[in-house]
Amino acid sequence: MLGLMMAQPLRVATIIEHAAKWHADTEIVSRLPEGGIHRYTYAAANRRSQQLAQALLKLGIENGDRVGTLAWNTHRHFELYFGVAGIGAVCHTINPRLFPEQLVYIINHAEDRLLFFDLTFLPLVERLAPVCPTVEKWVLLAGPEHLPVQSALPGLCSYEDLLAAETADYEWPSFDENTACSLCYTSGTTDQPKGVLYSHRSTVLHALGISLPDSLGCSALDVIIPVVPMFHVNAWGLPYAAPLNGAKLVLPGAGMDSASLFELMETEGVTFSAGVPTICLALLQFMREGQRQFSTLRRTVVGGSSCPPALMKAFVEELNVTITHAWGMTEISPLGTASRLKANQLALPAEQKAATLAKQGRVVFGVDMKIVGDDGQELPHNGVAFGDLLVRGPWVVREYFRTPTPGELTADGWFRTGDVATIDAEGFMQITDRSKDVIKSGGEWISSIDLENLAVAHPAVAEAAVIGVPSGRWSERPLLVVVLRPGMDVSREEMLGFFRGKVAKFWEPDAVEFVDALPHTATGKILKTQLRKDFAGYSVA
Ligand code: ADP
Repeated sequence: MLGLMMAQPLRVATIIEHAAKWHADTEIVSRLPEGGIHRYTYAAANRRSQQLAQALLKLGIENGDRVGTLAWNTHRHFELYFGVAGIGAVCHTINPRLFPEQLVYIINHAEDRLLFFDLTFLPLVERLAPVCPTVEKWVLLAGPEHLPVQSALPGLCSYEDLLAAETADYEWPSFDENTACSLCYTSGTTDQPKGVLYSHRSTVLHALGISLPDSLGCSALDVIIPVVPMFHVNAWGLPYAAPLNGAKLVLPGAGMDSASLFELMETEGVTFSAGVPTICLALLQFMREGQRQFSTLRRTVVGGSSCPPALMKAFVEELNVTITHAWGMTEISPLGTASRLKANQLALPAEQKAATLAKQGRVVFGVDMKIVGDDGQELPHNGVAFGDLLVRGPWVVREYFRTPTPGELTADGWFRTGDVATIDAEGFMQITDRSKDVIKSGGEWISSIDLENLAVAHPAVAEAAVIGVPSGRWSERPLLVVVLRPGMDVSREEMLGFFRGKVAKFWEPDAVEFVDALPHTATGKILKTQLRKDFAGYSVA
């Protein structure tokens, strides 16, 4: 027997509709790539998204068509999220920091029909256009005054002109909640980029999931700044969760440097930010240098790569800002786990609490996880046994977009994350490595993440990475690569000695190299594939 409740499909447009109706005056503030600050309300954002929807329909965009974006975190990008998805088309956010060959691959693979881009990317799209034949029209995300005098871009027009020709007299249509709404390619840290095609249902459920108090936690009292880009896994879902909760949204545009972020956070009263550890490390250094303090920021979610415990400690002790460590991936929309204490852990000694919070955390309702050994058998939750991390749930990928990838799911329907992890008795998961980054020394596994976390606890170290290099005796040994803080110096012996007594003897790195900078992915993760290339030929005894 079926229940007798209303069958309202979960649709992305209902989020902006809700915000426009019930949080009409709550603001969205953006720093624009072409200069200046833009400020309006959820009511105005809904109207402009509806104007965009009508413009797209006039351009012949139909259900399921892909509409690409190459854009920073701005109100116009926000409108694309809702305007494109709202008519049943697919908002394909593209990471502009990928290599041009990858961009061409992604745009052609997705067969984007329209491409919306920020002024910053004009030179880039001029190079891409001749080799992206499916794109019928290129739209500059700015007013007509910013259009180039001459351009060979097919159908080039300005976004503001497109909207100006339309009214907001439009009602969001209803359709099946399993309809695709957005598309995001993995950043290809380890492989060729693969598309993850989110549905309206998965997106709305994920937005609700990240809003829960023990997950990222969002409320109408928050002023949220997603420092993670909107071209990377939909800025972790925050552009949906903010309007869903009626939180004020602050979008930093292209200004991801510490000084610009700090200024915007202070002037807009930001309470909650989210970003990768690299961004937080830079921010911490900036705050220390100027002996600055945040007047409103109280918490920040850190994920994307492992958050060093030293960073968490410094944020809370020096800046009075709590870091919530979270784990996820493009294939999981992205949130899988967040680290929040349970009631029975509140009375633990401070050190134990900090160690628990430094883990990647507990699953959010909607996601289930397990760890398995090489034989596929489930491993115990004792915080010691580690194995391949598998997940499943309504916002976890079932298959990649147009890329059959055998073996991604287990026979019984779990997604292989490619991460290696432990789970403790309280359900806290800890990533020990990416399966491709694990160092295998004499048949034993060494966690590069643990070594990196330790290295950055050294006062002279700004950033550190550990990779496996060939060893005649052990097959592979850890090499530590370090960026020192400005003006700091430390000898090789001291650096290597820093690990003594803190990890098992055979985990201690064999060698250290000092570099000016580490290679990063577009989202600020250390690009280990590049680092391995940089140190190809390096070996230890
Ligand atoms: P890509 O897979 O292209 O690198 P993603 O952003 O989807 O892009 O990366 C997901 C991966 O990032 C995870 O599988 C995991 O290895 C890593 N990751 C994400 N969050 C954390 C975290 N808190 N700690 C450690 N690793 C993390």
